[in-house]
Amino acid sequence: MDYLNLPTAALHQWAIDLFLAMGSSQREAMLTADHLVGANLAGHDSHGIGMVPRYVLSWQVGELQLNQHATIVQDSGSMLTVDGGRGMGQAVTQEAMALAIERAAAHGVCVMGLRHAHHLGRVGHWAEQAVAAGMVSVHFVNAVSFPVVAPHGGSEARIVTNPFTVGIPVPGQAPILLDFATSAIAMGKVRVAHNKKLPLPPNSVLDNQGRPSQDPGVIFPAPGTARGALLPFAGHKGYALAMVCELLGAALTGGETTRPANLKMQHGIWNNMLAIVFDPARLGTADLFSAEVQEYVDWVRSARLAEGSEEILLPGEPEQRSRQARRESIPVDSETVAQLDEAALRVRQAQGTAPGPASALA
Ligand code: NAD
Repeated sequence: MDYLNLPTAALHQWAIDLFLAMGSSQREAMLTADHLVGANLAGHDSHGIGMVPRYVLSWQVGELQLNQHATIVQDSGSMLTVDGGRGMGQAVTQEAMALAIERAAAHGVCVMGLRHAHHLGRVGHWAEQAVAAGMVSVHFVNAVSFPVVAPHGGSEARIVTNPFTVGIPVPGQAPILLDFATSAIAMGKVRVAHNKKLPLPPNSVLDNQGRPSQDPGVIFPAPGTARGALLPFAGHKGYALAMVCELLGAALTGGETTRPANLKMQHGIWNNMLAIVFDPARLGTADLFSAEVQEYVDWVRSARLAEGSEEILLPGEPEQRSRQARRESIPVDSETVAQLDEAALRVRQAQGTAPGPASALA
């Protein structure tokens, strides 16, 4: 596989400079770069720097709006509906989550619906924002873009990869972080496999005739050819969870569901999210909680290992390890680097200024 090792700090600065050149405020440019490079650091290249070319295209056609703020549209104290104004998801979601955390600190719990955000990236990032404030948070998210996931029992796409996420702070220990797409494979991982020309895992996609395939090209077909579909994870269970994400994350928050009438965008990806944020200390169990977690985790880890497995991990551990491994540099496949170079060129042509090619950072 062909890739370049890009120094983490230089890549972060490159992203800041690109968003500044597009017209983002310093704050927005910084939050977006932190988030995207943070996703690469966490090992989720699908939601990392490789999203930049799509954001640039979305901005150029007037879909991604820069420098928006999260606006409260409904407020009953512990329940909030917030509108993201199609703004940069990394900036408006940070504000929406800050509001939810503030309300959870005041009332013990906050149910916050965020609608009309542009792509809000790796949802685990938002759970981590809540966890850093000592809060548990649960996130039901829908993504609005061309449908890519077939419902269980169907062979045509009707859903996007709707992520579900839970962050649990554990005093004195690393937090537990569950954060995944409800498809058998995240769409961004299909893009990465397509760029790297690698096959997909079995049982993750169907071709446009509804037949099982491992070719990422069935999801990125030549113009004029019908697209295949990703499968939900765990059959009916993943599909059922994706449906709940769509209905709670979008239909209930006033956001749009992924159906033809709502799919007018060319390059944009909208996200809508229902977040339930609460202060676990209010349950009065804090003294027992850490010890109970430790005892339970020890018991779980004591299970005999499966053949070929070296250890039993906790949700959140792969991301912690990846951050250590990628502290200095991030491997980015050459196709993605070429797309980053092209994105910088587009911004330069549009704005007269932009950072140099990302490939020059290697
Ligand atoms: P994934 O399949 O890599 O699963 C990640 C989750 O599984 C994490 O919680 C991780 O800690 C846990 N995990 C991984 N290996 C483990 C192990 N061996 N033992 C225990 N736990 C383990 O994730 P994914 O489905 O590819 O999703 C990647 C990212 O994509 C997520 O951050 C998600 O939020 C994001 N996403 C965003 C959107 C959007 O519209 N914004 C859509 C889909 C996905």
